Amino acid sequence: MSESAPPTAAPTDRSRAARPVPKPGILDIHAYVPGKATVEGGGAPVKLSANENALGSSPKAREAYASAADKLHVYPDSRATIVRTAIAERYRLEPERLIFGCGSDEVFQLLNQTYLEPGDNMVQGEYGFAAFAIGAYAAGGEVRFAREPDYRIDVDEVLKCVDERTRLVFIANPGNPTGTWIPISEIRRLHDNLPPSVVLVLDGAYGEFVTDPTFDDGLDLARTAQNVVVTHTFSKLYGLASLRVGWGYAPAEIIAAMDRIRLPFNTSIPAQMAAVAALHDEDFQRASIDLVEQWRPWLAQQLGGLKLDVVRPSAANFLLVGFPKTPGRTAVEAEAFLAARGLLVRGVTNYGLPHHVRITIGLEGQNRAVVEALAEFMQR
Ligand SMILES: *Cc1c(COP(=O)(O)O)cnc(C)c1O
Repeated sequence: MSESAPPTAAPTDRSRAARPVPKPGILDIHAYVPGKATVEGGGAPVKLSANENALGSSPKAREAYASAADKLHVYPDSRATIVRTAIAERYRLEPERLIFGCGSDEVFQLLNQTYLEPGDNMVQGEYGFAAFAIGAYAAGGEVRFAREPDYRIDVDEVLKCVDERTRLVFIANPGNPTGTWIPISEIRRLHDNLPPSVVLVLDGAYGEFVTDPTFDDGLDLARTAQNVVVTHTFSKLYGLASLRVGWGYAPAEIIAAMDRIRLPFNTSIPAQMAAVAALHDEDFQRASIDLVEQWRPWLAQQLGGLKLDVVRPSAANFLLVGFPKTPGRTAVEAEAFLAARGLLVRGVTNYGLPHHVRITIGLEGQNRAVVEALAEFMQR
């Protein structure tokens, strides 16, 4: 299982300790491991390890960001009103039912903090995003990992994990690191079978990349359900990972509870201004989606031709690629081989996938370089 953090801290008498001792459970948590950003020996690497936008960011967003330079001494608007208004208009949502965070990571953390007490549990897919579980453990909760046969969320497996102490279910759709997604009919079946006391969180970080017209991120379900939260982020399609803006849409009661513990100034003025500009730059969004649409099938086909086992179909801006277990050809060795050529991809051992790597779809030359290097790697 990925990210297992059993609550095994020795029962310490913390009051009598010679130095401050963190509360039980904290030191069992494995800190989040970000995708590599540097190569040994320096040089500018090609970073295909964090699912960032290969086209960078919108020029309009950069302009808006720069125009905030004369406001650095001012506290930001705690309610992020300009982003709130823009999101509400774009997605046709009630502005008061939105919450903004330092990335959607903060929204996940707020949900965990608000709903989990020791003895409670949260349920997620076995390959699910590590940030969900870290926040749950930090809140003293337990995490149950539902099997993902075929690298896909299986609603029946999720439901099997739910019991009377379940407070939250986190589903990334599409998933990371799998890239796969499940239809809204399955999401609705999951929702129908969950107790109304359980919060169903639908993380749509990659939803904007899905071009299948039947895909639905769950916002319509969240409009009427009492226990559904949908999250989105400016980090992926909108190309603003550095600025840390994410949002959630939820029933007013859930938003009000989270707002009680949210840090008041959690999104900065430059970030808010850039987010609004990015949201309005539809040309940049179109170009970003087109790039992924053009190169993801090509990359999958080329890697398949090298006898690598591409998890399909990915609807996100990355591919999960399986490697042989033969020494010399393993995923760990492939990651190192690529890194030595300045190509950074993401090992996913800590997601319970020791034989896979995750590769972000890059620009044409970057994708070609990955294929060439892996052809060499497989022929050694
Ligand atoms: C990248 C990503 C996010 C976005 O995180 P931010 O904190 O908004 O940058 C959320 N969920 C998943 C599954 C992701 O991969």
